[in-house]
Amino acid sequence: MYFSKSFIPILKNNPAEAKIKSHQLMLRVGMIKQSSAGIYSWLPLGFKIMKKIEQIVREEQDRVGAQEILMPTIQSSEIWKESGRYEDYGEEMLRIKDRQNREMLYGPTNEELVTEIFRSSVKSYKSLPQLLYHIQWKFRDELRPRFGIMRCREFYMKDAYSFDLTDDDAFFSYNKFFLSYLRTFKRLNLSAIPMAADTGPIGGNLSHEFIILADTGESKIYTDKRIFEVESETTIIEKSSLSNLRKEFENFYSVTDEKFNKDEFEKSVPEEFRLNTKGIEVGHIFYFGDKYSKPLNTAVDFNGNKEFVKMGSYGIGVSRLVGAIIEAKYNDKNGIMKWPISVSPYDCAIIPMINKNDTSNLEKSNNIFEYLKSKNIDAIIDDTDENISAKIKKFNLIGIPYQIIIGNKSEGDLFEFKEIDGEPQKLNIEEIASQISKAKLN
Ligand code: ATP
Ligand code: MG
Repeated sequence: MYFSKSFIPILKNNPAEAKIKSHQLMLRVGMIKQSSAGIYSWLPLGFKIMKKIEQIVREEQDRVGAQEILMPTIQSSEIWKESGRYEDYGEEMLRIKDRQNREMLYGPTNEELVTEIFRSSVKSYKSLPQLLYHIQWKFRDELRPRFGIMRCREFYMKDAYSFDLTDDDAFFSYNKFFLSYLRTFKRLNLSAIPMAADTGPIGGNLSHEFIILADTGESKIYTDKRIFEVESETTIIEKSSLSNLRKEFENFYSVTDEKFNKDEFEKSVPEEFRLNTKGIEVGHIFYFGDKYSKPLNTAVDFNGNKEFVKMGSYGIGVSRLVGAIIEAKYNDKNGIMKWPISVSPYDCAIIPMINKNDTSNLEKSNNIFEYLKSKNIDAIIDDTDENISAKIKKFNLIGIPYQIIIGNKSEGDLFEFKEIDGEPQKLNIEEIASQISKAKLN
């Protein structure tokens, strides 16, 4: 891809309306464009990143045995009346009438709809557990949309739902998602900590929020620093190993605001390990038993008895994650954004110095591009006639993790290659490709 032909509308300065780094940067480098209050279009750069995040989320859902479905954005009010949430949800829900005067709504979440899908076909406990998820746009008419796509009105969410016969089975499902979240955030190169959370309007009693530390976050958290050291991987998906994994984290005090209790905090965390700071909620998981299955009369047959199924729900803010990664990875000191290679819009930027009457650097760039492509490395060539330092500045802002600079300093088949925030090296193209490929494997 040539930069001159790409749709990456870069602004000269940070837009004044943006208060936090992620919002500034996303507008500045043309990742998103606001279309109305709290509603955004995703432009190629931003959309590419979001799709890569989505794919990682999807793979880690599949890996714990969840099945992907796709429910509509527009729902009928009927099932929401059955559960009682049509009234309770309040003004955050966008209500619509169709031409038949039927009450519809734009889904803010999907507990009701997925339960309706489940109850219409699953009759026996033998089909349990069922873990279903979808990745779909949600609408919540937030009172104060702010910080760009971090708290907006239309946003992209992965939401999963589990159906089990017993509490014990349901905890197993809960723990599968707990593990899949740890794996997902690790692949995104984020340190997201599970914190005991309030269950809010969804109801129930067991819940964790996954939080990444950031000064600009809206969640207040109280935690024992040692939780950051917990080893978060297990390959065995089995009841006891997963419940042990969760216990490893629960050994350390870590809660959000609503669950905070000063005495408990001070009693269970030695002073030197106490951390009281702010974070961004990127995921939230709930167990709520039969809270919805009862009013929605959703039961399976178990030895001739009707048992209400036990449910949980599990959300990840896929679009919010784009901003959250910026908040976590942008380096204030040197003004460099560095995307984790797993989600970077391109693997590498090829930055040639281009003189008016000399196309040789552009030709070299094309050859490098083709070679990288043959190695499955996705590059972008800056073919514009900007000077080299302006180009590098621009790519430091965009955040593609690797740069190949083709100018005075390239000699023969050696090029200047650097990690965006690292020291330049002189390497040939095979060595460059192998470094990038290695990084992509991790
Ligand atoms: P919050 O406490 O931030 O309002 P929530 O508890 O209402 O979030 P959930 O219903 O658990 O959110 O939704 C799952 C995930 O969706 C959240 O963890 C968050 O990452 C994301 N999310 C929720 N609301 C928004 C929003 N208005 N804009 C962008 N992402 C959101
Ligand atoms: Mg929440």
